[in-house]
Amino acid sequence: MGDPQSGELARVHRKGLLWLQAMPYIACTVGEPESSLPRLRVLIAAPRGFCAGVDRAIQIVELALERFGAPVYVRHEIVHNRFVVDRLRGLGAVFVDELDEVPDDRPVVFSAHGVPKSVPAAAQARNLVYVDATCPLVSKVHRQAERLIEDGRHILFIGHAGHPEVIGTFGQVPSGSITLVETVEDAEAIAVADPENLAFLTQTTLSVDDTAAIVDALTRRFPAIRTPRSEDICYATSNRQAAVKAIAGKCDRMLVIGAPNSSNSLRLAEVAERLGVPARLIERATDIDWDWLGEPATVGITAGASAPEVLVREVVDALRSRFEVREDEADHQPESITFKLPRELVA
Ligand code: SF4
Repeated sequence: MGDPQSGELARVHRKGLLWLQAMPYIACTVGEPESSLPRLRVLIAAPRGFCAGVDRAIQIVELALERFGAPVYVRHEIVHNRFVVDRLRGLGAVFVDELDEVPDDRPVVFSAHGVPKSVPAAAQARNLVYVDATCPLVSKVHRQAERLIEDGRHILFIGHAGHPEVIGTFGQVPSGSITLVETVEDAEAIAVADPENLAFLTQTTLSVDDTAAIVDALTRRFPAIRTPRSEDICYATSNRQAAVKAIAGKCDRMLVIGAPNSSNSLRLAEVAERLGVPARLIERATDIDWDWLGEPATVGITAGASAPEVLVREVVDALRSRFEVREDEADHQPESITFKLPRELVA
């Protein structure tokens, strides 16, 4: 049998707890007027934002600044995000289009998208100190391209004309040994000299669905074409597209945070649109078109692989200024991939 005093104490204690638990509701219903803002559920895709390659490229510039002091030159945007580039510029990075703009006595970093072989060759010829921030998954495609050419294959490269990654990969092999295929129509129309000696590779940041359709067309037309041993579209691109598909059915609008020249961000907006969800690519909160957004029940948010999480928070805060927001994050398997930093910066 229990001690009657301790039973009484327990009752008092429990009453106190119930009172304390009720406090927030009492405070909410008595102390504050109910919000007059329309309600909005914000559903945040996961995974989203920075991938391992972008994270590594940014760290490389930061470490280069620590090691060599400012200014450190960076050939092209280190990653496709103005916010990231501006922050690094503030730390002392100088972004240039070409190597000619780099003084002889300053180090230069090559961007995450990769560079043609001619670029490090030109840096060596000038005795420049350079650090290559090419994502290891892009470098893997470069090595595959070299091996295929050594095997005597002609490469059909699925990608987008003019993207720095495409320029970098084309620059790994002799000109004329690789042909760009951008669309299913290209794949249907392309004429090749030797259909028995073909291979295909892809850009890392493509639409998974579009690429599958192009690959189908190529393998049907050229049954002997050699396919890559593993998928070239990188884990980050595939995961972010899958995360948009996972939430699209619950969303009335989708905001994709990313730069207009970021291939993987553009693909995220496309994925949402194709699933019937009107989507907008925005660089940051000030780009939200409130008329277009209207008063939806649920807005999905995602961010491309080069968009920092701080911009996601900025967008959610902007939504809070106009809506009574309930914020949920989609369930996901966390990504655990990391890439080693170049030895010359961590030794
Ligand atoms: Fe590397 Fe993929 Fe990130 Fe591009 S998107 S930097 S390929 S991990």
